[in-house]
Amino acid sequence: MANTATDTQAQEAPEAGTLTDGFHLVIDALKLNGITNIYNVPGIPITDLGRFMQAEGMRILSFRHEQHAGYAAAIAGYLTQKPGVCLTVSAPGFLNGLTALAHATTNCYPMILISGSSEREIVDLMQGDYEEMDQLAIAKPLCKAAYRVLHAEDIGIAVARAIRAAVSGRPGGVYLDLPAALLGQTMDALKGQQSLVKVIDPAPAQLPAPEAVTRALDVLKSAKKPLIILGKGAAYSQADDKIRELVEKSGIPYIAMSMAKGLLPDDHDLYAGAARSLVLKESDTVMLIGARLNWLLSHGKGKQWGTEPKKFVHIDIDPKEMDSNVEIAAPMVGDIASCVGLLLDGMGGDWKTPPSDWINAVKAKRDANVEKMAPRLQNNNVPMDFHGALGVLKRIVADNPDMVLVNEGANTLDFARSIIDMFKPRKRLDVGTWGVMGIGMGQAIAAAVETGEQVLCIEGDSAFGFSGMEIETICRYNLPVCVVVFNNGGIYRGTDKNPTGGSDVAPTVFVKDARYDKMMEAFGGLGFYATSPDELNQAVTEAIKAGRPALINAVIDENAGTESGRIGNLNPQSVVAKK
Ligand code: ADP
Ligand code: MG
Repeated sequence: MANTATDTQAQEAPEAGTLTDGFHLVIDALKLNGITNIYNVPGIPITDLGRFMQAEGMRILSFRHEQHAGYAAAIAGYLTQKPGVCLTVSAPGFLNGLTALAHATTNCYPMILISGSSEREIVDLMQGDYEEMDQLAIAKPLCKAAYRVLHAEDIGIAVARAIRAAVSGRPGGVYLDLPAALLGQTMDALKGQQSLVKVIDPAPAQLPAPEAVTRALDVLKSAKKPLIILGKGAAYSQADDKIRELVEKSGIPYIAMSMAKGLLPDDHDLYAGAARSLVLKESDTVMLIGARLNWLLSHGKGKQWGTEPKKFVHIDIDPKEMDSNVEIAAPMVGDIASCVGLLLDGMGGDWKTPPSDWINAVKAKRDANVEKMAPRLQNNNVPMDFHGALGVLKRIVADNPDMVLVNEGANTLDFARSIIDMFKPRKRLDVGTWGVMGIGMGQAIAAAVETGEQVLCIEGDSAFGFSGMEIETICRYNLPVCVVVFNNGGIYRGTDKNPTGGSDVAPTVFVKDARYDKMMEAFGGLGFYATSPDELNQAVTEAIKAGRPALINAVIDENAGTESGRIGNLNPQSVVAKK
């Protein structure tokens, strides 16, 4: 975390005899550590904190709901390796932000949730204060660390601990509780300045032991059908060049978990994304780099993984991740940049690439699958299906590789993930480890703010609904975000019927022919209505050219889409009821 010139300027010595207060110590502590963007929802007791932050040159972005401010902070952490900060009011605002804090922890994104809280004395005696809640106790099980500050002179150390806890080791969420009374406390300004702590080397390198490196290389050397799986931990680590060098030098085919797409360009010769089923089934050795063997990889066992016995090499910063689901033959516990660097050194100049029959089989399968898919992506059907619409967006993303893609939904997520190629690291942001709906507008806002790039949001109509009101936030800050709502009039599909014939629609059905584009127009953004791939292409092209808030209501066939997208198997089945 480099300090910028402005952080240093903020540190002129205060005049003798002047006072500072809790508000300004929080601001100075954050700025000293290079944190200048705050994702916020104002209210008691932190309204003035937000005002003072803006006055002191921080960028403070106010949202309409804390959950979206929290999702924004979480993904800001992922994109920058600095903790993203979300600022909320007490009890209900805190709880709204807590979902995002738990999400950050689950996804290994560094984030700090700072919430104002009520009077300690009253809360602890449960005497019924305004928004009374023991927030610290509630936050603790949902994050890496939780701290409360009672004295102004401890603010510096508390902010430092929160930052280090969020970014060191496996990154995650941290909660910082600021009781209202703390913010107004005063102290001598010079003493206050001296109490601040600049975090030195917040995420120290962690090197694996030499034996661990040799063991991993031995396993890789003996492989006949090796595979590399890159996860979002690899993307987060920003070791882009080293990871590319490792893949290319080893000659091992790789697949990328959804947010690792683009870490190497998806048109790379060794990318086996379109041969995913084959490589999972038939590989004999798998090296995981910053990817967990959780449900997204079927826990490393079962049908998807075939009958070929496998050896796993696993690179992760968290030792507890090893053997979480299957035996790991070569655990490499350390940070990805160090681990990959040591592997490269150990491979030396005479590394033998994998047998060509394996490589050829993978490439043949991949190319055949890509070819099979191609004509479907060219269709100009009306009403649009997922392939026709995504074919258009695939071409637009290929032409604009710096654009950040945000993606959520069920079918909209599954199809977009496999259809749209990414060409640069950390350009694809999606629902993450929980597969959560609602990350859309929060992530889009943070992506625009943190990267300065155009953002394209591909949203199912259901997914969009969770955070849709934040398009006002997008318009207020005039961010270059183009939202495409895949509108098939319902969750999964728009065709379910109420089996009783009653007047209520089925639980998965929305208003027919809804015009989400008019919502964007209501706040001064650009609204488009697209019923064909050609119209969609025109609308997105125009929106990106304008670089302004835009929403395209893309009308998708209400029959298109399957139950729960590709994870319908996770639904429990009733043996009693008929569908
Ligand atoms: P995906 O969902 O893409 O498979 P996961 O979130 O399951 O990715 O896995 C990410 C993994 O990366 C986590 O286990 C985390 O501990 C690890 N990780 C994150 N940052 C680093 C790093 N700098 N070095 C090593 N491992 C890391
Ligand atoms: Mg839908």
